[in-house]
Amino acid sequence: MTAHWRIGFHKNFEFGKTLGRGTFAKVKVARHKTTGTCFAVKIIDKQSASFKRESLKSEIVLMRQVIHPNCLRLHGVYDEKSKCFLILDLASGGTVLDRIIENDCFKENDAKKVSKDVLTAIEYLHSLGISHRDLKPENLLYASNDPQSPDYTTVKVADFGLSKIFVEKQPMRTVCGSPNYVAPEVVDPYCISIGYGPEVDIWSMGIVIYVMLCGFLPFYADSNAELFRLICAGDFSFPSPYWDGISESAKQLIRKMLVVNPKRRLSPSQCLAHSCVLADQKAPHLRQHRPQARGST
Ligand code: ATP
Ligand code: MG
Repeated sequence: MTAHWRIGFHKNFEFGKTLGRGTFAKVKVARHKTTGTCFAVKIIDKQSASFKRESLKSEIVLMRQVIHPNCLRLHGVYDEKSKCFLILDLASGGTVLDRIIENDCFKENDAKKVSKDVLTAIEYLHSLGISHRDLKPENLLYASNDPQSPDYTTVKVADFGLSKIFVEKQPMRTVCGSPNYVAPEVVDPYCISIGYGPEVDIWSMGIVIYVMLCGFLPFYADSNAELFRLICAGDFSFPSPYWDGISESAKQLIRKMLVVNPKRRLSPSQCLAHSCVLADQKAPHLRQHRPQARGST
């Protein structure tokens, strides 16, 4: 199936269970009636108040270019009167957020695999000139729910709704992303006037790695104003006892990703070459406790 615009979704597909809901869309399993193949379908209600035609168009244009084992693939688009249906790879293993909640947080080896997959995807997207701009555990999906499948631990980046093609020397200026994962240059009023680049994805991924390893956020406050102040100060720590069993190389990688100055942040390939992503951690651990006050996910 190619990603051409068509009509006749219901003639070709039947719905299965609901997989998730986002701000703009509902996502369900869709079975192709002729071949029996199951996909995920992202259903966008064009009559909803939050619907923005330009954002949808941009999501589709970007997704059409993205063909990578760690990114959700767009297989087709059905654009009908009141709804638009995006036919996507079915990632049946749930979100990374689900697995963090299930396990309280991750074993270091699991976090390493997620990091490797997502950083590989970021490196690929940036090479195409695409910045995702909304990386967070809810937008990282496990390809399979079958523990016997080799895809059980494969992670795919989803939700290209806020992604943008960046142009060298022409910085992005839109304030977007999810507050807890957003980079300082996006929320600092002075920096945003200058604009920002794809390095915002490395910051967000640094937060994701932190959360996977301990189950709570590095920057947390009750108001966005205070949260953004903490983010811009880049002031975070690895509190004991929660971080005591976690390797120094993991902490070092996070420190090099959560750098306030985007020019000093590691690039995707430098992150991939970091010992934390490369080395095989032999001592898995599962955290038992986490402080609720710090904004556990
Ligand atoms: P957001 O609120 O993050 O902007 P959105 O409205 O753009 O979200 P998505 O993030 O794309 O929607 O999807 C919402 C949820 O649906 C995801 O968090 C995930 O649980 C589920 N989902 C999305 N795509 C798939 C897929 N291809 N396979 C399985 N589940 C999916
Ligand atoms: Mg989402």
